[in-house]
Amino acid sequence: MSRIVGIDLGTTNSLVAYVDEQSGLPRVIPDRDGRVLLPSVVSFTPEGVLVGEPAKRQLVRRPGSTVYSVKRFMGRGFEDVREELRYFPFSVAPAEGIVRIAVGGREVTPPEVSAVVLRALKERAEGHFGEAIERAVVTVPAYFNDSQRQATKDAGRIAGLDVVRIVNEPTAASLAYGLHQLARGVIAIYDLGGGTFDISILRVKDGVFEVLATNGNTHLGGDDFDRALVEWLLDDIRARHGADLSGDPEAMQELRLAAEAAKIRLSAGERTALTLPFADFTYHREILRGELEELIEPLVQATLAPCRMALADAGLPASTIDEVVLVGGSTRVPMVRRRVQELFGKAPHSQLNPDEVVALGAAVQAQILAGGITHMLLLDVTPLSLGLETLGGVASALIPRNTTIPTGARELFTTSVDGQTVVDLHVVQGERELARDCRSLARFELRGIDPMPAGMPKIEVTFLIDANGILQVHAKELRTGKAASIEVTPTYGLADADVARMVEESYAYAEADVHARLLIEARNEADTVMTHVERALRQGADLVPAGELAAIRAALDALRQERDGGNTELIVARTVALNQITEPLATRLMDAALRAALASRRVAEIMESP
Ligand code: AMP
Repeated sequence: MSRIVGIDLGTTNSLVAYVDEQSGLPRVIPDRDGRVLLPSVVSFTPEGVLVGEPAKRQLVRRPGSTVYSVKRFMGRGFEDVREELRYFPFSVAPAEGIVRIAVGGREVTPPEVSAVVLRALKERAEGHFGEAIERAVVTVPAYFNDSQRQATKDAGRIAGLDVVRIVNEPTAASLAYGLHQLARGVIAIYDLGGGTFDISILRVKDGVFEVLATNGNTHLGGDDFDRALVEWLLDDIRARHGADLSGDPEAMQELRLAAEAAKIRLSAGERTALTLPFADFTYHREILRGELEELIEPLVQATLAPCRMALADAGLPASTIDEVVLVGGSTRVPMVRRRVQELFGKAPHSQLNPDEVVALGAAVQAQILAGGITHMLLLDVTPLSLGLETLGGVASALIPRNTTIPTGARELFTTSVDGQTVVDLHVVQGERELARDCRSLARFELRGIDPMPAGMPKIEVTFLIDANGILQVHAKELRTGKAASIEVTPTYGLADADVARMVEESYAYAEADVHARLLIEARNEADTVMTHVERALRQGADLVPAGELAAIRAALDALRQERDGGNTELIVARTVALNQITEPLATRLMDAALRAALASRRVAEIMESP
């Protein structure tokens, strides 16, 4: 059997992990530079597609064609994300069906964007193992609905990965801590990241996980801590320097970065200081951990209400929770840990890196599926009720929320008009009475029913949810014996033909990606060499004969002219040429520097001797 990796496809960062055969422990796979977090950012530049850190660096330069937080759009329609859009600089076409993001003159779907991230992780794993990786377990939030899970699987297909199992993130976090080995128990998973908060209550019994309840806030996280601190600093700057920096984007960006760094330092230390040189003054401020805690207290409190609601949904008092697991970078904040501990009356598990814990758990699940760990089954529940729209637009649930999956349900329906030969079936998900208030998952028609009086046909509708939480709906007319059966693809899903096209395109872009990377590397190298040469000319122009100086300046101009063009080879060639022509200058400068260094050493030695 080929290897299966575990992938945490996150809103902000994504990771890939595997279980080490020798130690039996899950490990994350770093990239060539030793970084394990791949920013879930994709930039569509004219030169090609960038992903991860290089894409993140385009966020300021190309806000309209650099996509981040695409997880918020997965498997959703325009109406679903209308509210969300005010947080984003890129535009989404107000069309029916799947969300399409306009980037750099074309439209991409969220699964295509996620596929770029998945492909980068797949390649990272392939580089690590020296073999093709074709199968993965991918994690999703426990509350992801059918379309969102399906979209995640589609992203895998586009990236050339068979997503053999979709696992809920809280379940994965529990697996990473080995909680599947508990004979029985109830686990609370508190997940506070940069921009989202999730709380899940799971029950584990003999290796079976069941999600009892989930809750959270999709716009609450460490970024809000940063914002609170920035506001406080702005007030302090106004009071002490009489300056209002809130309208200065550059100063605000600097403040935001400094605030985040200070916040992180205050997780380890009791006090920290920041010094920020602005144009007219230098701002210096010492910050105590207590001061930060006062600022973020209401935000931390805001995570506790969803915790209480989840407990109420699960029908359990906090005192019955056996284990508490922390996930997400913001759970490193000591006050967060304290409040969580107070609420549940338990010290939370925090030994594992909270950024890695979900990916590590996905790797454990992958190992179970690959046969490396036996006697394990994982069960989750449906996050929302699933049903059909019936007469008068009423939503009639076939599978109530919180039903353990895999599961199925069957119900009989009939026609409301005499001689009706076609029935419209509208599959909906949600807890509201009326179908129009629920989310529309799929619509399809059952045709070819023999004309009969209203109420006579017997239409059997079957809902099946597999272990991935993905729904299939079948409909059959029973009375005539003439059966028809239809399988549903979600309203916001991709058709097979779309996926096939996207797979092809992704190969085309993969080639463009390599070109884009080479071009960027060439430009970086050109910048470095030009900076060095300019500095050398400032320091040692007098060391260069006039003819040589003119040649150097010509080579420098030639490279500067080519630098912004798209021709990688020409940039490299001119960089090499500039390097060669300045070699004699570099040698002379080095000699001069060496002489100066030796001279100063002699002075230093003399001074040091008694
Ligand atoms: P995540 O989305 O899980 O990657 O979490 C990212 C958030 O965690 C960001 O808001 C970070 O500023 C925050 N974070 C990371 N490390 C720390 C730390 N040591 N103390 C406080 N916050 C942190």
